[in-house]
Amino acid sequence: MKLNGKVAVVTGAASGMGKAIAELFAAEGAQVVVSDLNLEHASKVVEGIESKGGVAIAIAANVASEEDVQRLIDSTVSRFGTVDILVNNAGIMDNFVPAADITDALWDKVFAVNTTGPMRTIRKTLPIFTEKKAGVIVNIASAGGLFGSRAGAAYTASKHAVVGLTKNVGFQYATLGIRCNAIAPGAVETNIGATLTAVNPFGMERAQVGMGINPGLGKPEDIAKVALFLASDDSSFINGTTITADAGWTAY
Ligand code: NAD
Repeated sequence: MKLNGKVAVVTGAASGMGKAIAELFAAEGAQVVVSDLNLEHASKVVEGIESKGGVAIAIAANVASEEDVQRLIDSTVSRFGTVDILVNNAGIMDNFVPAADITDALWDKVFAVNTTGPMRTIRKTLPIFTEKKAGVIVNIASAGGLFGSRAGAAYTASKHAVVGLTKNVGFQYATLGIRCNAIAPGAVETNIGATLTAVNPFGMERAQVGMGINPGLGKPEDIAKVALFLASDDSSFINGTTITADAGWTAY
């Protein structure tokens, strides 16, 4: 098992990619904190993990709230003693609103979850990582964090910022044995993915070019496998980078 005895916090883990990541990490021996806005769904994920002999707890937390993030990390440490792996997965879309139409409220809302959220969880977790000179951060960015046409202005900018945060944290804490990487998923079959297929059939068509996947949507498990790679020692020489996982969507 690749994560035996590790303590992993996964945000937005009640559905989609976060759920798949929590389940795979638990199957690989990690003690997993399944955190989400939605405690009921997070608890169901925990039940599923426990039914397979895994160890997990559910913690309700809004990553846009400083107080919630503090409680998330504090509760994790009181239950499991430490944090070894932080997966910043919670995210929201922006309804594909272009720059001319965006309101301050929508911009702030998207940034609060997608960008400030990861910054907050990283800020609260780094003291634990720096003290023990070890720790891994995996940020779920997006193909929209590398290219300009996959979403609206706020989502695109918020995910570009996540890629930048990943580079900066990876650089600044490398000498302390801490790695920080990101994944840029293409369109994946989740609640958010459903909104993409509705408005971006051109992108879906191009995704099929890559690996013959029809209708071009990846599975949450496809991303979970990349997250496992980045969270485990298999990627010990990888830091500050963003790995694209999109069946070739952005390569052609
Ligand atoms: P999803 O909607 O199935 O899951 C997102 C989860 O995050 C939900 O359980 C939701 O309750 C939770 N969440 C939302 N706001 C939160 C908050 N403020 N605090 C805590 N939890 C919150 O969608 P998904 O596709 O699995 O999304 C996971 C990540 O993947 C997101 O960061 C998203 O931007 C990114 N992403 C998705 C796609 C795609 O095609 N699905 C592509 C690229 C990137």
